[in-house]
Amino acid sequence: MSKPETIAFYPGSFDPLTNGHKDIVERALRVFDRVIVALAQNVSKTGLFSLEERKELVRQTFVGKAVEVVIFEGLMVKAARNHGATSVLRGLRGVSDFEYEFQLATMNKTLAPELETVFMMTEKHNFYVSSKLVREVASLGGDVSEVVPPHILEALGKKYGNA
Ligand code: ADP
Repeated sequence: MSKPETIAFYPGSFDPLTNGHKDIVERALRVFDRVIVALAQNVSKTGLFSLEERKELVRQTFVGKAVEVVIFEGLMVKAARNHGATSVLRGLRGVSDFEYEFQLATMNKTLAPELETVFMMTEKHNFYVSSKLVREVASLGGDVSEVVPPHILEALGKKYGNA
């Protein structure tokens, strides 16, 4: 009997994707057959990059890898089920992430008991990296080349007019 495909659903804003996200996806590819990076369409939040721009930036990051990029709205576990996911993937940077992630995982387990949430600890060089901080520093003309892939650095430069 062949083993069913393992598919990780990785939800978030990815506004924009950072090296922290990239590392989580690349390590997850060693554990799962496929990873779906899922961009949440959040009506109350307007991002720096449009959803389509973010989708394209994520796509370019993982060309040739078993990574799909989708946009979803509504309940995350429903979207994960609709895409045939077997797990939900989340990254943990430290204790500050833990409380919220613990609540979220417990709620999601109640809503969809068949979906296992899998956490990956950030690499030590990415633990301070967040999209929010990247946006703030880049908006002020700071150098974020160490924490985002080159094509995202370029896109940030164009957005803020300091390329
Ligand atoms: P949110 O909008 O919920 O903050 P993000 O789009 O920033 O989500 O991130 C999505 C997921 O990636 C979350 O699980 C988050 O904890 C994780 N993540 C973000 N930055 C890092 C990082 N530097 N290292 C590891 N995981 C990260």
